Amino acid sequence: MSNPAVENSEPYPHITSIECKGCGRCIEACPRHVLQLGAELNARGYRFVRYRGDGCSGCANCFYVCPEPHTFEIRRPKHR
Ligand code: SF4
Ligand code: SF4
Repeated sequence: MSNPAVENSEPYPHITSIECKGCGRCIEACPRHVLQLGAELNARGYRFVRYRGDGCSGCANCFYVCPEPHTFEIRRPKHR
């Protein structure tokens, strides 16, 4: 599956959805409003956060507020 943020060489949040418990803290903390709770459940029975697909500034607020330490990585593709 293509990732438009990667193709555009923009930062983006990589979300390990199995770690998310759907608390919503990252959604509140994101200044770009690019995170949202999906309708599906992960294998642990929680709704989990998804990235809208573009608009991330790479600020890492989501990484810092998430109580689950292995959920977020902020990735910054190299510019060509
Ligand atoms: S890095 Fe910042 S802009 Fe990007 S998803 Fe996380 S909180 Fe939002
Ligand atoms: S802060 Fe972490 S656990 Fe809470 S909804 Fe966001 S990704 Fe999920």
